[in-house]
Amino acid sequence: MKDCIFCKIINRELPASFIYEDETCMAFLDIHPITEGHALVIPKHHQERFTQLNNEVAGHLFKVAHKILNAIEDSEIKSEGANLFLSDGTVAGQEVMHSHLHIAPTFKGDGQRVGFSHSDPEMFPRKRLDEIATKISKFINEQS
Ligand code: AMP
Ligand code: ZN
Repeated sequence: MKDCIFCKIINRELPASFIYEDETCMAFLDIHPITEGHALVIPKHHQERFTQLNNEVAGHLFKVAHKILNAIEDSEIKSEGANLFLSDGTVAGQEVMHSHLHIAPTFKGDGQRVGFSHSDPEMFPRKRLDEIATKISKFINEQS
């Protein structure tokens, strides 16, 4: 896509510090890292939303993230755990509209916290949880 910064990185029109590349995806370091080693895994084919990726590509991003996290843990980069996060859609805080998965190493005292803003949300009754689960599960589709 012409005006997409991540497509420009894929096409080597913009610089990036690459970690990994295969036919389907690539990974490079985030330019504003929350911790050292903060990386992004992106599909090579431009899609704005995670939900628009096919099921295989979506799964592949996580497989590659798993590989990279293991590499980070084997390296000298400080990592005692990690946050994997993905904002799907502007309303969810996605700023670069080429779907991407964040990998951010974490360690005690890193001063970072990724999570939901409400620290103690209300507990739903089982009946309500079951109704919501049914609403979702009836639309689970093997293909997408
Ligand atoms: P999000 O808010 O999930 O859309 O995150 C977009 C991420 O892309 C941010 O963490 C940015 O720091 C990162 N980013 C933006 N431009 C670049 C770039 N040219 N190279 C590497 N990372 C970038
Ligand atoms: Zn793109």
